[in-house]
Amino acid sequence: MSIVVLDNVKKSFGAVTVLHGVSFSVEKGQVMALIGASGSGKSTALRCIDRLEQIDSGRIEVCGHQVADPALELRKLRLDVGIVFQSYNLFPHLTVEQNITLGPVSVKRMPKSEARQVASDVLAKVGLADKASAYPEQLSGGQQQRAAIARSLAMQPKVMLFDEVTSALDPKLTGEVLRVIEQLANSGMTMIMVTHEMNFARRIADKIVFMHEGKVHEQGGPEILSAPATPELRDFVSNEL
Ligand code: ADP
Ligand code: MG
Repeated sequence: MSIVVLDNVKKSFGAVTVLHGVSFSVEKGQVMALIGASGSGKSTALRCIDRLEQIDSGRIEVCGHQVADPALELRKLRLDVGIVFQSYNLFPHLTVEQNITLGPVSVKRMPKSEARQVASDVLAKVGLADKASAYPEQLSGGQQQRAAIARSLAMQPKVMLFDEVTSALDPKLTGEVLRVIEQLANSGMTMIMVTHEMNFARRIADKIVFMHEGKVHEQGGPEILSAPATPELRDFVSNEL
């Protein structure tokens, strides 16, 4: 069962075409790594999936929602999709727990006591059980990113999108965030992750999609990283390692 389908998706910003007919799909429980050089359209593709951008043509289906349909209720789509960016976007004036309970209480109308229990569960999952009452500025970058992942998990999404979530972190803190993502992958979460961590992608991804100049240039299992079919992927992989 496909959780995310992009079918011939085109997207331009003004005169600049960024997605030239992108197609890929992710099945339930699959981990997809979306890779490619800076500017190849990875973030735009992810943003279209959550309709942070509207596409010009083609089709996107996410958990049964027709994403490009102007009549789609965005709230319903966004209940099913969790998205985590490079910048953590935690509210600085709220504690970690308050950051996490905000969505369940305000969007899902969950009672506060239940939301606190959910916060405690997701914080344990990301290894921050002892940070519920801390403020974001009291946490390291890696801890803030894990709190941002916990906040997303608290909404119980059906698919998680990660856009270079470790790019702002130094290598020591990168590992702790990647471990959380790996655990999530092992727990069966469907996910699309944009990443430059090739070894990580090779280890945990079921499927690699390589974008080049706004197109899917090559896709397949993790073995394509070791045996690229195209010179573009070969160059990309050799630059990243
Ligand atoms: P990637 O994530 O692979 O680095 P992006 O999707 O961020 O690529 O960007 C692809 C291209 O689209 C880039 O040339 C970028 O400058 C352009 N772009 C992205 N967002 C916008 C926007 N909101 N307005 C205009 N151009 C944009
Ligand atoms: Mg990007």
